[in-house]
Amino acid sequence: MANQKDFPVIFELSKPGRTGYSLPDLDVPEVDLSHELEDEYIRTDEPDLPEISELQLIRHYTALSKRNYGVDSGFYPLGSCTMKYNPKINEDVSRFEGFSHAHPLQETNTVQGSLQIMYDLQTSLEEITGMNTVTLQPAAGAHGEWTGLMMIRAFHEKNDDTERTEIIVPDSAHGTNPASATVAGFKAVTVKTDENGLVDLLDLKRVVGPKTAALMLTNPNTLGLFEEHILEMAQIVHEAGGKLYYDGANLNAIMGYVRPGDMGFDVVHLNLHKTFTGPHGGGGPGSGPIGVTQELTPFLPKPVLTKDVNQYFFDYNRPDSIGRVKPYYGNFGINVRAYTYIRTMGPDGLKQVSEYAVLNANYLMRRLQEEYALPFDQHCKHEFVISGKNQKKLGVRTLDIAKRLLDYGFHPPTIYFPLNVEEALMVEPTETESKETLDEFIDVMLEIAQDAEEQPEVVQEAPHTTVISRLDETMAARKPVLRYIK
Ligand SMILES: *Cc1c(COP(=O)(O)O)cnc(C)c1O
Repeated sequence: MANQKDFPVIFELSKPGRTGYSLPDLDVPEVDLSHELEDEYIRTDEPDLPEISELQLIRHYTALSKRNYGVDSGFYPLGSCTMKYNPKINEDVSRFEGFSHAHPLQETNTVQGSLQIMYDLQTSLEEITGMNTVTLQPAAGAHGEWTGLMMIRAFHEKNDDTERTEIIVPDSAHGTNPASATVAGFKAVTVKTDENGLVDLLDLKRVVGPKTAALMLTNPNTLGLFEEHILEMAQIVHEAGGKLYYDGANLNAIMGYVRPGDMGFDVVHLNLHKTFTGPHGGGGPGSGPIGVTQELTPFLPKPVLTKDVNQYFFDYNRPDSIGRVKPYYGNFGINVRAYTYIRTMGPDGLKQVSEYAVLNANYLMRRLQEEYALPFDQHCKHEFVISGKNQKKLGVRTLDIAKRLLDYGFHPPTIYFPLNVEEALMVEPTETESKETLDEFIDVMLEIAQDAEEQPEVVQEAPHTTVISRLDETMAARKPVLRYIK
């Protein structure tokens, strides 16, 4: 097995005098600005950079890219992350020069086409979610959560309702929910899950009250189950004077069938880099638009993109706005991709997406149930959670199962989340996978379960075929080696 150390870093390939680039001749007069800088800021020695040829550089990065794994390499059932196929037509359209060369500081009358794309995307998302107004400003899901909560806060403050300091979050919620509540200055209060995997209504009635600013909810929840009492929950929270926040990162379970606006939600965020096929990974760029009811519309971040008879323009005259949440107007490129996706699918196509996402998840769940424990035995939506507790009794942990999947070329599901399921494996196949791919994954998962009984060490010591075997994950997180020091 190759060791990570055998792989030369680019500095080790360096030979003095080699170059991999040539700069064009200067076509403006040379200017010496050094007298404008303080001495301490003026570099006196050469930067310590690798000196290599173009060919070496290309080979180095190509070799690195082959070690990478993504949706274009294979099945990636990472629950809650919605790692679905990113159609290449989205990439083509986002690279149109009219879009990719536009500058955010251009006069709006010179970028009417780009503004129309943004406006039409807002309108489509309003229709899909059933909300009054959508803004494209937030850069990701968590950023949308924070923006929405800041608006709810501004709403309560406007009504002199300043005692509302708590956000109710289910114990199965995505980790960003309590985090966003805290960053927005609220206290996150937990509501329990009942034996059916849904929010415990009695517990909700217990925690809701005059301090409740909002309930944050994902529906279907992170167990992949639809909160069927949502209308009753909305009534409980609204009667107490709170608002309902919808975490719509994974709308591909219900899109085209049910709308958060119709379920009683006041604020919704969407992850365009999940449901609407934007690529994600490497930290972005993402897009986390939020949609709100008419009542909350005055608090939207400004500027708000709008139009009159002649043109699209940005409205800055928003006295109740929470202000800007991002420089410029959102991550435009990812919004163009989402727009292209929505237009290529059409309303019926988006509906079909939900059908296939749910069908694929249920097929996988019922087949994996042959060997793995299923804590909540009900039909699921786009994802489901199984438990490795039977295998744990044989000395094989969920982490071992995840590592063993790497030997077969599969990215593992999300593990040890949600926290309320022992040895959790959270599986989200997405709508874009074929039955053949799902069957291959099922065969491998059943084989691993069999190995756990017959030859557990094979699973416990996995992976066996990857470039490096098990990482010391604590060391990697605590003491990351991020640069090469000569
Ligand atoms: C991914 C996800 C988020 C956070 O989205 P980011 O874009 O990663 O910030 C929030 N909630 C749920 C349910 C998610 O799956």
